[in-house]
Amino acid sequence: MSVRENIDSLRSEIPDSVKIVAVSKFHGVEQIMQAYDDGQRVFGESRVQELVGKHETLPQDIEWHFIGSLQRNKVKFIAPFISMIHSLDSFRLMKEINKQAAANDRVIPCLLQVHIAKEDTKSGFAVDELNKFLESGEWKECKNVEIRGVMGMATYTDDESVVRSEFRELKSIFDKYKESFFPDQPSFKEISMGMSGDYKIAVEEGSTIIRVGTLIFGNR
Ligand SMILES: *Cc1c(COP(=O)(O)O)cnc(C)c1O
Repeated sequence: MSVRENIDSLRSEIPDSVKIVAVSKFHGVEQIMQAYDDGQRVFGESRVQELVGKHETLPQDIEWHFIGSLQRNKVKFIAPFISMIHSLDSFRLMKEINKQAAANDRVIPCLLQVHIAKEDTKSGFAVDELNKFLESGEWKECKNVEIRGVMGMATYTDDESVVRSEFRELKSIFDKYKESFFPDQPSFKEISMGMSGDYKIAVEEGSTIIRVGTLIFGNR
């Protein structure tokens, strides 16, 4: 199947309201252009250098999302153009994003990455750490960062019930935060969860953004 066919079939399977981030990491400009020519405008990358190169080469109306772990000293390279950072996982990172966003005279939309998986390897805030972070209120000083919701990755397993319960947990964390910390902010509305192997479950559990690579572009 071609990139175009893969995207079309993915789109037909999920509600229009769910945004697809086509994860293009390690894939070339040509493959990205096949998706672009099929109308796809939102792409996700997880390495700063690769993203900066692709941003320079590819059409300027692409909406780039950063989905990987982000080092503070590299924020400045993506701050001028990034549409959303899914991997906000510390206050120190937030302060740097805020600083670089201000330097570019813009507000950068971000998602709080929450550690929901059983594996130690998956990054993100631990839930109790995130509770403390939000309760402190310090994040409100970062006027050039707009927190738009949460992001999470489920455990890599064939056991659907584990994946489903983790996504359900993320949805309930989102609901709780919305009520407690963002009641007056309608833009706090995104739940970024679901990848090639588990996007169907994620959508059933309330995902608003899925991040799909392999299913669109093939193996990396
Ligand atoms: C690579 C990656 C994806 C896409 O994974 P696929 O299994 O190829 O769909 C999604 N989210 C994050 C954070 C990733 O690093």
